Amino acid sequence: MTDDNCLFCKIAGGKIPAAVVHRDDDVVAFKDIKPAAPLHLLIIPTRHISGLGDAVSGDGAVLGKLMLVGARLAKEAGFADSGFRVVMNTGPDAGQSVHHAHLHVLGGRPLAWPPG
Ligand code: AMP
Ligand code: ZN
Repeated sequence: MTDDNCLFCKIAGGKIPAAVVHRDDDVVAFKDIKPAAPLHLLIIPTRHISGLGDAVSGDGAVLGKLMLVGARLAKEAGFADSGFRVVMNTGPDAGQSVHHAHLHVLGGRPLAWPPG
C-alpha cells in the first residue's frame, strides 16, 4: 500500500531521489536531507504506515526490522562503541513532520538527554 501524496512513499518507490544506503523488500534506509548529527539516517517501511500511533499488531515485524536495520547500519558506519540513538517522532508534540513512519538513526556526536 502506498499513498500517492506521501513523500516517503515516493522515496520508497524511487520516484523522488534520496541517498539510499539500504533497500530490501520491507524497508528503505536513506540519509536525512538535513542531518542533525554526523550520522543521520531515516529507516522507513516500504509500505505506508502513517506513524507509530497508527501501527497495528501486524506491523510488529516491520517495526522491529526498522530497529535491527538501523542498528546494523549504525554499527557498519563505525558507531558500535561510541553509540547511537534511534528515535521515532509520533504526532505534533513530538514534531513529526512526515506522516510515513520513520526511524531516525543518529550518531557521531554526544546526544543530549532529555531531548528538547
Ligand atoms: P520528523 O520531523 O520526525 O517527521 O522527521 C522528518 C525528517 O525527514 C526530517 O529530519 C527531515 O530533514 C527529513 N526529510 C524531509 N524531506 C526529506 C527528503 N526529501 N529526503 C531526506 N530526508 C528528508
Ligand atoms: Zn507513505
